[in-house]
Order: sequence, then structure tokens, then C-alpha cells
Amino acid sequence: MLLTVLLVAAVVINAPSMVARGYGFYYRLTVNRLPQMPLAGERLLVLSPHPDDESLCCAGAIQQVLKRGGEVWVLWFTSGDGFEWDAALLGDTLRPQGRASLELGQRRMGEARLAARRLGVPPDHLIFLGYPDRGLRALLERHPQGTPYRSHLTLVSHVPYADALSPGAPYTGESLRRDFRRVLERVQPTLVLAPSPRDAHADHRAVGLLAQQEVAAERLRFWIVHGGLEWPLPKGLHPQLPLEPAPRGKGLPWQRLPLSPEERTAKLEALQAHASQMRLLARFMQAFVRQNELFSPRGE
Ligand SMILES: [Zn+2]
Repeated sequence: MLLTVLLVAAVVINAPSMVARGYGFYYRLTVNRLPQMPLAGERLLVLSPHPDDESLCCAGAIQQVLKRGGEVWVLWFTSGDGFEWDAALLGDTLRPQGRASLELGQRRMGEARLAARRLGVPPDHLIFLGYPDRGLRALLERHPQGTPYRSHLTLVSHVPYADALSPGAPYTGESLRRDFRRVLERVQPTLVLAPSPRDAHADHRAVGLLAQQEVAAERLRFWIVHGGLEWPLPKGLHPQLPLEPAPRGKGLPWQRLPLSPEERTAKLEALQAHASQMRLLARFMQAFVRQNELFSPRGE
């Protein structure tokens, strides 16, 4: 009995072609009814909690804004230096603290630069803040000012990366907010793509809430990457399928942004630039290469 359940679950999650056709039929009914997101030659700022989110959520939107004569900036809040298993693999240690985590952060910033280049974003429009992976919420809620937060992975309590916006800045909510405001001031975005406060990842929710506090609502659109219940299904590369709204985003006014086949190819290549993540999460990441991306004018 258990074996049967596991077998059916494996088929549904990974979807051989017949099951994928079933998904396609169902998704087209729901996704085609969604209104299309209007997108012009914006000054677009993509808020990316970790290196890879920018491509997962928004690779299509980034390409389309550039094609329409707009400008794009990407802002990474963390450098992804808190992925324990990843740092363990790269550092050949089971307790990847300190240096191995910092090296992972450096490596992931390099991967993010490659991904952005594939999407056509110029190098001087890429901004890294260097705040702690898996620490953003603690920083904003428990360390607004005063004693900084200390990452249990990198073991530092300040921005450790020389090429970040404010190297040496303490890990406090105050300095995170100050950096974010500096970027908004510099970019003057007409459109900001932010993680939804409904996303399952605490860092994503923290960035979404910060965006709601600091950016005028009419300029904000939200996306979800950690959408709950194994979303997006099926896992793996299915660029012919639509992307349907995530379970955690139920009830939000989703708009779809259709991607051309060329834009889907560039999205896949941008994801492949995140080699350290693809090694561990390829089938999850590939599942975002679909006919469309989804954005909501409401975060929650
Ligand atoms: Zn993320």
C-alpha cells in the first residue's frame, strides 16, 4: 500500500509525458483566464533574497523590459551563504561554518553575475547587500538596532563582502533598511518585483514586507518561489506547460506574463549559471521555465 502511494506520488511529481499532458490541459484552463501583465520600458528593480531568485521569478520580465527599451537593476539581499548542505559539499566538511560559508557566498555572487549577464543586465546594475542568508527576519524583528545579529553559519555579524554596497555594515534592521533606501534613491524604479509575504521562505517574506513598507503600492508587483505543496508541479523541465498560481498564493489577483521560446531558453541558461544550486535543486529550478511567469499587484 505504502509502496503504491509512493509510486503514484513519484509519477505525479516527476510527470512522464502522459501525466504532463494532463497537467497541461488543467493548467491551460486556469492560467489562460488570468489577465496579461502590462509591461513597458520600465525602470525595473528586481528584489532577490538569494542568488537564483532573480532568474526563477523574473528572467522573462527582465528580458522583456530590456527589449522594450527599459532599464533593469537586480538587488540581492543575501549572498546565499547559509545553505548548509551546499557549503558542506563545497567545503568537504560536515560542519560548514565560517570560511566555507563565506566562500559559498562569494561563489554564488559570481554565479548571479553570470546569470544576469545572460539576461542582458549590465554589470553596474547588479547590487549585492551581503546580509545573512536565513537571517533577514531575525535582523529586522529582533535586531532592529544596537547589538547586531550574528550568523551561525558564516559566524560574522557584519557585511563580510568587499564588493557589497556597504562592506562592514552591521547586521541590523536599521542598516539593511538604510541600504535598501539608498538603492531605491539611486535607481528610482517605476516597477519593483518583490517576493510575496506569503512565500514559504522566511527571507523572502522579510524582503516582501520591507518592500511593502518602503515602496509605493502602485509600483510593486509580487512573485512566489516557495509556493507550498511541492509547487510547481511537475518537477523538471517542461517549457511547454503554463505556470499555474502557487497554493500559497491562492486568492491573489495573479497576472500572467507570457514568455517566447527564446526567452524560456535564456531563462534556463540563466538558471544553469547558478551551478552550485543546480547541482542540488535542478528539477525544482527547471520547473520554473514555463510558458509564463506570474505576478500579483497584491502581496497578501
Ligand atoms: Zn530564495
